[in-house]
Order: sequence, then C-alpha cells, then structure tokens
Amino acid sequence: MISDADAVDRLRTLLDLVIPADDWPSASGAGGEAFLERYLEERPDLRPRVADLVNSADPVREPAWPWFAELVSAGFYADPGNGGNRDRASWRMIGWAPEPEGGWSGPVPVPEPPPVVVDPDRLSARYDAVVIGSGPGGGTSACLLAESGRRVLVVEAGGWPSTASLAVDHVRNPRSDWGLLPLSGPDDDHDLRLLSIGDSTRALRPYEPGWANNAMTAGGGSRVYGAQAWRFVPQDFTMASTYGVPDGSALADWPITYADLESYYARAERELGVSGTAAMPPVRTGHRHELLRSAADTLGWSSVRVPLLINSIPYDGRAACQGCRMCVGFACPVDAKAGSQNTVLRRAFATGRVELVLHAKAERLVVDGRGRVRAVALVGRTPTGELWRSEVAAGEVVVAGGAVESARLLLNSAHPAEPTGLGNGADQVGRHLQGHLYGGAVGVFDEVVEDLVGPGPTLSTHDFRHGVDGVVGGGILVDEFIPLPANMYRMLAGTGLIRYWGLEAKQGMRDLLRRTLRVMGPIQEVTSASSRVRVEPAVTDGLGIPVARLSGSIHDHDRAALAMIAERAVEWLAAAGARRTVLLAGTGEGPSGGQHQAGTCRMGDDPATSVVDPHCRVWGHDNVRVVDASVHVTNGGVNPVLTVFANAFRVMDELTE
Ligand SMILES: Cc1cc2nc3c(=O)[nH]c(=O)nc-3n(C[C@H](O)[C@H](O)[C@H](O)COP(=O)(O)OP(=O)(O)OC[C@H]3O[C@@H](n4cnc5c(N)ncnc54)[C@H](O)[C@@H]3O)c2cc1C
Repeated sequence: MISDADAVDRLRTLLDLVIPADDWPSASGAGGEAFLERYLEERPDLRPRVADLVNSADPVREPAWPWFAELVSAGFYADPGNGGNRDRASWRMIGWAPEPEGGWSGPVPVPEPPPVVVDPDRLSARYDAVVIGSGPGGGTSACLLAESGRRVLVVEAGGWPSTASLAVDHVRNPRSDWGLLPLSGPDDDHDLRLLSIGDSTRALRPYEPGWANNAMTAGGGSRVYGAQAWRFVPQDFTMASTYGVPDGSALADWPITYADLESYYARAERELGVSGTAAMPPVRTGHRHELLRSAADTLGWSSVRVPLLINSIPYDGRAACQGCRMCVGFACPVDAKAGSQNTVLRRAFATGRVELVLHAKAERLVVDGRGRVRAVALVGRTPTGELWRSEVAAGEVVVAGGAVESARLLLNSAHPAEPTGLGNGADQVGRHLQGHLYGGAVGVFDEVVEDLVGPGPTLSTHDFRHGVDGVVGGGILVDEFIPLPANMYRMLAGTGLIRYWGLEAKQGMRDLLRRTLRVMGPIQEVTSASSRVRVEPAVTDGLGIPVARLSGSIHDHDRAALAMIAERAVEWLAAAGARRTVLLAGTGEGPSGGQHQAGTCRMGDDPATSVVDPHCRVWGHDNVRVVDASVHVTNGGVNPVLTVFANAFRVMDELTE
C-alpha cells in the first residue's frame, strides 16, 4: 500500500495511536497493516484518505481521523481472517470467543444437502409456476406449489454461499456497517439504488446506509437473520380503526384479520420449528434473563420468552442450537436456525419438481396480446461474466423479491395497457414503504451481567405494543443478541461510553463488554403514501435493469413511538440495577425500509387504494401473486418474518386447493 519506509513507519504510528500496546498487542502488533491493506483493496476509493492522514502533520485533528480510528478498531476486534486480530488477541483480551462455552460438540459446519440448481442454458421453456425470490415468501410458495404437483422454477438474484463462508466474517455481514459488500449479498457493487431527499438525489452502493438492504442470497433474509418469530396481534391488522388516520399518514386496516392468519401462524411455528412455542421448548438462557425478568416484575410489567426459529432440541432433521455467540447476521454452523433454504426450500427440492436458478434476476413480467402475464424475462451473468437473457413461460407467477425489489419488478413490467407498471393503474405500486425504527438503551452495571450464552434474545415485554397514551401503535423490547466485539466497540464509542481511540478505549472494551446490557425493539410505523419506491429508467444496475429510487420520510408519530420505547428501555435497565443508561434511538434520513422492509404492494379490498387483493393477487392479473412482506398494510410492532411465512401458507393454500 505504502512503499517508502518513512510512510510505513508513520502508518504504524497512526495504527498504534488508535490502539496502543499494553499487556496486549497494539493495532500494528495484531496485524493492523494487513487488515487495512485488504480493506483498501476492496475500497480503493478510500486510499487517498488514508494517504492524507499518513502525510498529515497533525493527523488526530484531521476530519478523517474518527473514521480511521473506527476502521482500525474494527480490524482489531473483528475475526482474525480479516488480518487485524492475529491469534485472536483482542478476543482473548476481552474474554470473547465465537464458539459456545466449552467449544463445539462435533465438527462444524455440518454438511448441508445440495440444492437442486439448474443452469440458465438448461431452463425449461415453461413451468407451471415461476417464483421470483427464495426468501420466506418465495420458499414457502415454491414448497406448497410443488407439493400440490406443480413444476416450479425459483429464480434467485443471489447465489448459494456455503455456511462456512457466511459464518465467520465480522466486517462483511448484514449487521456490520464498515463500508464493504455483505457476503449475504448483494454481491455487485453496481447494484445502485437512488435516494431522494427533498430536491436532491444520490446514488448509493449496497453497503451505504439508506440503500435499505435485507439480504440477497438463497433463503433471502432468513439465511442470516436473527430468527425472532413473533405473531402480530389483532390490533396490528386494524390500525386505522383502532387509532384513526393521523394527518400525513396512510394508515389503513388489513383486509384480513388475525383470525384469518391464526392457524397459519401455528402451522408456520410447527412446520418450520419455532422454539418457545407449542412446537418446542425455548432455547436456554443465562444470567441476564433472570435479571431482566425480576426487573420487569419490579416494574409491574409482564414479560414473555422470545420465540425463535432456532431449534432448542433436534427438530425436523436439524440439530439443536449449541449457544454460540454469532447468530444474527450469520449462517448457523449446526443448521439449528430455520430459514427458507433449509426448511421449505429443502422440502420443495424433495418433491423432485423444483429447480432453482441462481445469480438470475427477473427483469420483467411479460404479457400476451390481451395483457395476461404469460412469461418472466430473466437476466444474469455466467461465472465468467457473460450476460445471458432468457424468457420462461409460466402458468402462475409468484413475486417474492422483498418489498423494494418486488415493487421495482412490477414497475419495470410496464406494457401498453399498463404504461406505468404492471398492477399500477391506481399509482399504488411502491407506495407505503415502511420497516421498523429501532429504539432501546444500553445499561452499564457494576457487576458482570453478560454471560455470553448465545443466541441472546430471551425475554421481552409487550406491554407497550398498543394502548400507550399519545402513541399510535408502539413496540416491544427484547434483550439483544450476543454482541460482536467490533460492533460493541462502535456502540460504546458512539454513545460516548468509551473514548474512540487510545488506551482508554482499549481499557473500556475490556471493562465494559461483560458489564453492559442492551434492550432494544422495533416500533410499528405509521405508514405514508409518500414513502415509496419508484424506478429510474436513466440509471441501470450491472445487468441493465432500471434501478429503484427511494424517497419519503418517517412520520412524527414514528419519532414519538421511538422515544417512548427507548424511555421504557432505560426504565427496564435501571430497574435491573444499571448505574448508567444511554438511549439508543437514532433515525436515518429518508424512508424506513431495510431488513424489515414491507408495504410496497399493499393488500386491500379496493383496487383504487391497493395493489393486491386479499388473496394477494395483483389486481387485474389473477395468475400473479405477491407473496412477501410487500403486501403488509402495516408491519406490526414486532419483527415481521413469521407473518411473511404464515401469509404465504395462507395464500398458497388458497391457490392450490
Ligand atoms: C441480519 C438480519 C436479521 C433479521 N432478523 C430478523 C428477526 O429476528 N426476525 C424477523 O422477523 N425478521 C428478521 N429479519 C428480516 C427478515 O429476514 C425478513 O423480514 C424476511 O426475509 C422477508 O422475507 P421476504 O420473503 O419478504 O423477502 P426476502 O427475504 O428479502 O427475500 C427476497 C429474495 O428475492 C431475491 N430477489 C429480489 N429481487 C429479485 C429478482 N428480480 N429476481 C430474482 N430474485 C430476486 C432476493 O435476492 C432475496 O433473496 C432479519 C433480516 C436480516 C438481514
């Protein structure tokens, strides 16, 4: 990276200003140069920033210093494979390890059955059904369609990365935020999205905040998610009737009720395997569970165990969780976490009637002369980088690309009778983009409270989900996943609980990792029509498809709910004995979205105000269904995935009956 000897010395000096040596190695002593070099190979655009710091007479006063200090610290606390944490020096220093206490019992990762993948040049001309996206919505659809006897093609934009590759990297996963492409996709730097705020529009790369990534890989978000498996409650389906419609919002009731989904929630819990429900006992807990439970009791709050799509006992041919410290953001080394790829998709392959085409995007739905969807146009690149295109005829089409991409696909499928997009006659496609703002708090305790028993979330309070004075909706609070050291550093430095560089920062990490607890939770957002996805024909992705443009903002009611839930988190931690608490309740610019994205193809009774009917058929297209979180009218005050699974079971039952 830096050739002359002087500059190399200066770089080492900077690294060791960030993390000096004490009884433990400094940043350069642990391999910081190697980490930086690898990082800058992926982000050559940032080389000049580092060079300017190296050449500066007073680097610590440069505007780029905080960025540099955070990056060097990320390398120091991340996995050794990234070069900056040789021999796990920092992990040994703070008492953290990824493995379960006592180590793995048995070799990891466990072998996985291979998927049934079809090469693009071997695609059949026609399938009974084409399913676009292999996440919870798409995987469940493929499974039920195949089990009903149909031949199904599943189209997935991402690949099928191995568990080994998705189970280790602390700086390239969807819960890290260090400016690198996540290994769970998207894997193409050219996958731009535009973000419009006021009059200005910026092009964003997938690793930038605001791009609103979930995951783009076989299994979708469920390949690497945290697997909290909450049901919505009855009021979540009747937000407008319960609260009225706040000014500037487009709050509405769902056209279906909790009762319509109840048996499908139970089915999803049983068929996928949710611990902490009738299907199986909860995962094991540690000290913090008891601490928070008794604090909730003291406050007079009710508390419940956290249902997880994670096996607590061997279930459905997959092993039980061993309690490792790297759950959310990673694939599970023992296959205990249930995602689309190892449950419903596995079942789908077992029928012998399903093929999966990887690294392939549906770019357009193709209509016949009468405007009926007859095929799906696909595009992708071969492993050697050549572009291929294909058109596959389909009896039924299921769109399940996630809220941003499903809307983008319909908008990109304009044809003469629907010139602004398929199903978009009433200008509804892409509107009501929402997700979940997250609020909570971190508490610092005098004694050790974090015993690092994974996966982490064990206890929740639902007392603030509805019925809070002055709040429309509300949310839940849950104790957090076991922290990753690099993320922990960023949180502690960001809240001012430790200094962000120097010996004090290093000491702070040693001191606080096991003496802090976080409780966090999502709040239900007050959806608005102006938070939306559009497409921008003038800007295309690496495959030539017009990109999504996101615009809009969160509502004032969302800010109020966020503040409320964060204040409750402070109370909870204080009651548990925290001597200091800090609110965690930041909001970004622009609309919500991200990992809990939803809402862009609203389900409704009226084609003038919705995109799909109560059976999730696109209005005017009875052979096209949207079966992912896009159809959520509102997104509950809890993580949404169990609702995606349950609704997919419902819709596919109706289709296949
Ligand atoms: C780190 C992380 C933690 C999370 N934790 C939780 C949790 O604890 N609980 C919870 O409820 N939720 C959680 N989520 C969110 C959860 O994963 C999503 O709600 C869920 O995956 C949504 O399912 P979906 O079917 O709507 O879409 P997705 O899972 O987004 O799947 C869509 C798939 O379609 C593919 N695709 C998109 N466009 C196209 C196209 N044009 N052609 C072909 N393929 C396409 C994508 O690559 C993707 O794989 C988490 C997500 C992440 C990433």
